Amino acid sequence: MTTQELVAAGLQLPVMEAFYTIQGEGRFSGHPAYFIRLGGCDVGCVWCDVKESWEAEKWPIISIEEIIEGALAYPGRLVVITGGEPLMYNLFPLTQLLKEKGFSTHIETSGAHPFSGEFDWVCFSPKKFKKPHPSIYQVANELKVVVFHPSDFDFAETHAAQVNSTCELRLQPEWSRADRFTSEIIEYIKKRPAWKISLQTHKFMDIP
Ligand code: SF4
Repeated sequence: MTTQELVAAGLQLPVMEAFYTIQGEGRFSGHPAYFIRLGGCDVGCVWCDVKESWEAEKWPIISIEEIIEGALAYPGRLVVITGGEPLMYNLFPLTQLLKEKGFSTHIETSGAHPFSGEFDWVCFSPKKFKKPHPSIYQVANELKVVVFHPSDFDFAETHAAQVNSTCELRLQPEWSRADRFTSEIIEYIKKRPAWKISLQTHKFMDIP
């Protein structure tokens, strides 16, 4: 098989970086986790803090066995697959192998591509810049909307109306505008308690 075919099959993937840290956001905030950041994203968020991830070609293509070896070097057994936009790839082979090795598998995704993979936790963070694929709404465990503009509250409600009934709802102030939107989110969720606030606690801790 060519490299292109191996990537299409999800047996090799472009990896921008992989590191063991603390999950800073959402439901599993505070949990130690091995992050696998895949290269490649076609969503184009203006406030993206990992724009260097966008071009997949910039990053080494690595076999899923080698990716998992990196995770096995640490004691934690929680893996978060992020990007970039990880659903640009077939994630079944990587997640099946991770689960065989005893890992819990989580994903952070904009949902902009068809869903793939076996995940214990799906964090769906829709972006205005590219419409989510319909497959994400039934599998999302957590809807996390980044608030960068006042219109993002309505945007959040639009998606909350489409996710499954068990999906947890979170609003997260965009880091550079946290001064303004943290207080607005607090007031918002006090009136609408279905929502919770998510903070980027890893940025307060100054860790990746
Ligand atoms: Fe950046 Fe994520 Fe938006 Fe892609 S989806 S542009 S990686 S914030």
